[in-house]
Amino acid sequence: MHRYLWQQADGKRHVYDTTRHRIQAEHSFTALCGETVIPRTERGDLTAGLWFDGECPVCTIALAKALGWPMRELADLAHRFTWSPELLARLAEILHCTSGEVAELTGARTVDT
Ligand SMILES: [Zn+2]
Repeated sequence: MHRYLWQQADGKRHVYDTTRHRIQAEHSFTALCGETVIPRTERGDLTAGLWFDGECPVCTIALAKALGWPMRELADLAHRFTWSPELLARLAEILHCTSGEVAELTGARTVDT
């Protein structure tokens, strides 16, 4: 079993650490991005075939970093997403980077939320 798994919850697909969380319907877990989210049965969150929500950008990068991707590849991955100021702040916290470093990593394609 992989240590990190995807789980759809609260409108996005997040990544969680299986050594810290066991996923159950209606029970909150804290994803790699730092968000605490709740998978809901009625939304299909517990049915993998019904996952239509987009990936959480912060979880995506946090997972790649946890898997040992080099910064160059993290940057390529990060450029695929559009980053709100809130997501950039969260990413900086997760990666222990400055806001300038995450702006460079993500290409600073930001949108206001
Ligand atoms: Zn997430």
